[in-house]
Amino acid sequence: MTQVPLRPAVAHLPAYVPGARVPVGAAAFKLSSNENPFPPLASVVAAICDAAQDVNRYPDMYATELTEAIAADLGVDPAQVVTGTGSVAVLNHVLNAVVNAKDEVVYPWRSFEAYPIAVALAHAEGVPVPVRADGRLDLPAMAAAVTPRTRAVLVCTPNNPTGPAVRADELRHLLEQVPGNVLVVLDEAYVEFVRDPDVPDALAVLAKHPNVVVLRTFSKAYGLAGLRVGFAVARPRLAAGIRAASTPFGVSHVGQMAALASLRAKDELLERVETVVQERARMLAGLRVQGWTVPDSEANFVWLPLGERAAAFAQEATRAGVLVRPFAGDGVRVSVGEPEATAVLLEVTESFRR
Ligand SMILES: *Cc1c(COP(=O)(O)O)cnc(C)c1O
Repeated sequence: MTQVPLRPAVAHLPAYVPGARVPVGAAAFKLSSNENPFPPLASVVAAICDAAQDVNRYPDMYATELTEAIAADLGVDPAQVVTGTGSVAVLNHVLNAVVNAKDEVVYPWRSFEAYPIAVALAHAEGVPVPVRADGRLDLPAMAAAVTPRTRAVLVCTPNNPTGPAVRADELRHLLEQVPGNVLVVLDEAYVEFVRDPDVPDALAVLAKHPNVVVLRTFSKAYGLAGLRVGFAVARPRLAAGIRAASTPFGVSHVGQMAALASLRAKDELLERVETVVQERARMLAGLRVQGWTVPDSEANFVWLPLGERAAAFAQEATRAGVLVRPFAGDGVRVSVGEPEATAVLLEVTESFRR
């Protein structure tokens, strides 16, 4: 039988494995997808309900009000901001805007599992560069991996799933070495959780380097993972290209209004982020007291470098009532959530060691 062939790149895509979900009716803590453990604020739910009245209409295609609010919040020109259905989608649009078939895209690995998929779908060739044993990105090795065929370098900071953030001097050296016609994507999905003072100010970096794009999201710190709103910040010319490559009417009206309401409630939401940051410190300290060697985390998750025992650990955690995210043969990522969830997790890590 004659069949429509899939693109070889698509037939061989690694599957994006979503974090395990809590079965209906079961009681478990979901620490598998780096979500915000807090339910939406009442003001945000009210904005969502109001917006629901208008869903017979297409949304504002350019998310004008939200784009202006994001730009004002960041102190950039609205022409520099491009919204999309989560920053994963925005990354696809960024790559589609700049990458030609067979170009190379350098990215860290192990890192965000959406990267190899986005690179392959953009017809590019991925050049994964191993993350260091301590969970930090190896930026000198990434700079060294850049060739005349490289069109983009993806920098995940903090790195999902290992946790550390890139330091300002490391990024400065990378940008000095990478040619100006190679895009450097700073994926800052967890920037609000960073407390390390030595990290770069991405917007200042962008002001200095026209080849930089910054990706941010409302999914994590702002707790809107379910509504799919993220954005890129770039120079206006690149931003226009990314916008042109974007799905028309991507961000729903409900998503736009929820993100706007969240920006208005920024202070309140950042207090919640601080709670998670403190819980992260408790989780890391608890693990280290038990003798675990875990990387510092600047995000809302911690990394257990369990190697071959990753899957077995995840099963054990599930039995105890916490869902975590195993990366087979590599390690386990545990999102930081409720204090009660930390307590259960630490019981599992304690007994697993023995
Ligand atoms: C969660 C995450 C994103 C953002 O995902 P959304 O599509 O905005 O929900 C982007 N990059 C990394 C590294 C992430 O972990």
